Amino acid sequence: MRTVYINGEYVAENEAKVSVFDRGFMFADSIYEVTAVHRGSLIGISQHISRLRRSLSEIGICLKLTDSDLQTIHHQLIERNQLNEGLIYLQVSRGVQDRNFLYSDAPLEASVVAFTQVKQLVGTKAATSGISVVGLPDLRWHRSDIKSTQLLYACMAKDEAKRQGADDAWLIRDGYVTEGASNNVFIVLDGVVVTRELSSLLLPGITRDSILKCLDEADINFVERPFTLEEAYSASEAFITSSTSFVYPVVQIDGQSVGSGYPGPVTKTLQHLYMLQVSENV
Ligand code: PMP
Repeated sequence: MRTVYINGEYVAENEAKVSVFDRGFMFADSIYEVTAVHRGSLIGISQHISRLRRSLSEIGICLKLTDSDLQTIHHQLIERNQLNEGLIYLQVSRGVQDRNFLYSDAPLEASVVAFTQVKQLVGTKAATSGISVVGLPDLRWHRSDIKSTQLLYACMAKDEAKRQGADDAWLIRDGYVTEGASNNVFIVLDGVVVTRELSSLLLPGITRDSILKCLDEADINFVERPFTLEEAYSASEAFITSSTSFVYPVVQIDGQSVGSGYPGPVTKTLQHLYMLQVSENV
């Protein structure tokens, strides 16, 4: 049985209760973060807290907890649950109120929950052999830069990908790939790594940012621009990044092999450099 954090208290998971009037429950009026834990240490916690604050401020949720309080919650959860490898999920919702679309009538106290989840992060089959993806229309709202819990379409896209025999979905808007259902996407075209530039249409991934730094340091050419699925079909390599996947090679897109059909050299180099970066920081 896990110990979870809920509104200032650490309790057994079966004792943690959220109100049916919580706006997170009724309107998906909440923000979340997922931070990886490797060898008992957090990866990029300060970046996750900064992004949490940005998302909260974009939708006007006021959180009383300080950065140091948030760090303490994460550390306490690792300790109380003896978490070695996995993740911490943190969710901040606008608060509890009778059902009402309007939220600015009365100032609400944000609800905060956080819990640990065990997950294998290193040496997974996906990381070593790669994954397959299918292109699906991006039917999400136009503010995917905000990490809100409004994830229904991401769930539907992943489920549809699975129905089509693939591991994940790449989302297409106006003819260009925006991102994966829960990750940022990259391709390697003519030796240059291509990933879409940040905008309101995609999440500013923390792993994406780390990978751009790795590319810079390793003197590997890269460009931030939109790309089409057709370009991805002709890429020599493709990969995705996220906090709990790190870097997964993408070896098949819409049933077609990417390059050799096996994880390629640029992807493997980045997996290695990212792990070095993680080991230095944990
Ligand atoms: N895009 C989306 C839609 C995501 O859900 C995620 C994972 N949270 C990412 C990108 C990757 O972000 P990060 O590297 O910060 O986990």
